[in-house]
Amino acid sequence: MAVKHLLPCGCGESLQVDASQAGSTIPCVCGRELEVPTLRGIRELAEVDVASVSSKTNWSPLQGASFTLGLVLVVVGIGVVAYGYPRLRAAQPYMEIDEHKLYDEILADLTPGELYDAWKEVREFGLNGRGQNEFVMGRKFSARMKTTTIVGLALTVVGGITIVGAMVGAKR
Ligand SMILES: [Zn+2]
Repeated sequence: MAVKHLLPCGCGESLQVDASQAGSTIPCVCGRELEVPTLRGIRELAEVDVASVSSKTNWSPLQGASFTLGLVLVVVGIGVVAYGYPRLRAAQPYMEIDEHKLYDEILADLTPGELYDAWKEVREFGLNGRGQNEFVMGRKFSARMKTTTIVGLALTVVGGITIVGAMVGAKR
């Protein structure tokens, strides 16, 4: 890491200079133009530990807030994915099973008594019940879990980008 030196000004202020500025002139906050000494002269000036200074001062409140926000987004995003993805997987059979074939098989296996119960159920819940059977529900649930998983992934990615952005910004 770059070693910086303190160039004192007559006003009491000290400016940070490094070897690349040797022999040049830099303006002080007081308006004076300070002549940066030669390389040898610079080495005689007091050293500043830039690393320890910058690691504290470069992390602005905005970057800190971005980092925290990113972290929250990632944690929430992972939580949402952890909720949605296993349920999406669990609902997958509903997307693959041939519903009508399955019903034919079920109906063929039913005893007359069970068939009567099934018919009663249909009569009780009406034809609307047909649209609300477990396959329709399963497909709706699956679609909802797919959306949930995608939203969770998006949150995680946005959070990750926010964290990286905050860290890149902090290094400048
Ligand atoms: Zn000055």
